[in-house]
Amino acid sequence: MTDIDELVVRRPEGLYCAAGDFFIDPWRPVDRAVITHAHADHARGGHAHYLASAESHAVLLERLGDVSLQTLRWHERLRIGEVELSLHPAGHVLGAAQIRIGHPRLGTWVISGDYRLEADASCTPFEPVRCDVFVTESTFGLPVYRWPDASAEIERLRHWWAQNALAGHPSRLHAYSLGKAQRILAALGPPSGWPGPVVCHPAVERLNTAYRATGVALPETAAAAALSPADRRQALLIVPPSAAEGPVSRGFRSARDAVASGWMRIRGMRRRRGVDRGFIISDHADWPGLQTAIRASGASRVIVTHGYEAVMIRWLSEQGLQAGRFETSFGEAEAAGADS
Ligand SMILES: [Zn+2]
Ligand SMILES: [Zn+2]
Repeated sequence: MTDIDELVVRRPEGLYCAAGDFFIDPWRPVDRAVITHAHADHARGGHAHYLASAESHAVLLERLGDVSLQTLRWHERLRIGEVELSLHPAGHVLGAAQIRIGHPRLGTWVISGDYRLEADASCTPFEPVRCDVFVTESTFGLPVYRWPDASAEIERLRHWWAQNALAGHPSRLHAYSLGKAQRILAALGPPSGWPGPVVCHPAVERLNTAYRATGVALPETAAAAALSPADRRQALLIVPPSAAEGPVSRGFRSARDAVASGWMRIRGMRRRRGVDRGFIISDHADWPGLQTAIRASGASRVIVTHGYEAVMIRWLSEQGLQAGRFETSFGEAEAAGADS
């Protein structure tokens, strides 16, 4: 192994650490996969062995079925071949990890997966990890992407819902089933303060169950079948964007639609999605957040995986950092506006 000169390289299967003989979020089936988080573009089926954070255990098994999964607690160190590996919270969705890999000669790398700097009650908050090489996403790596205060956006959502309920229209919120939906649920607070019941699409409800099993306190939601027509007109329905027009929505006629996503920062995106409202709530770092995380890593070299790579690479170079990119298959969900 003495001929290795890079700790992590891109192979056709995915990002590969030869000194430990494992892949990180591989997009093709491999023997040993270390997984940053359970979103579909990072956690794929078909690998022989998985390693991920203990916090992601329930959501990963919900997504992948009964796979061979080893877990690590936050900061727990594991020796694999010539490297020492540990996992550190990325604050993106439940269990999302930054993967720290240390090697005596090749230095310390952090593969950050997707991350969000703004803390909330639905997952362990992001922690900066010092390293020589920081591998970063850049999903919202354009100066226009700056998030408003999330609690103010939640208040806007609550107001929209209350107005709809008063007018007798159900409210239908399009939110990604893993992470976004639970973050919003947790932020809505106790049901006694709601304008009506909350109903989640089954795809969302399955993940709510995994969150609760992990110890995240989410308020109780209602089953659509148990609601009277009057209750339905007051309800907030949370659906994955891809299932907005599915059978669950049929019992909620004349619903008003809204999207919760970082893409809603751009006015045209709301029109394109054909919804009444957009709430700017993202599980990714915004442009200043990306810069903060990069600086906090102390890395002199930064490699960009997915998102607005060219703009980010130019900014990195202007900061005097060594900048590069890995061409990956991450971000397909984000590009569709779903995983944001
Ligand atoms: Zn993600
Ligand atoms: Zn991603």
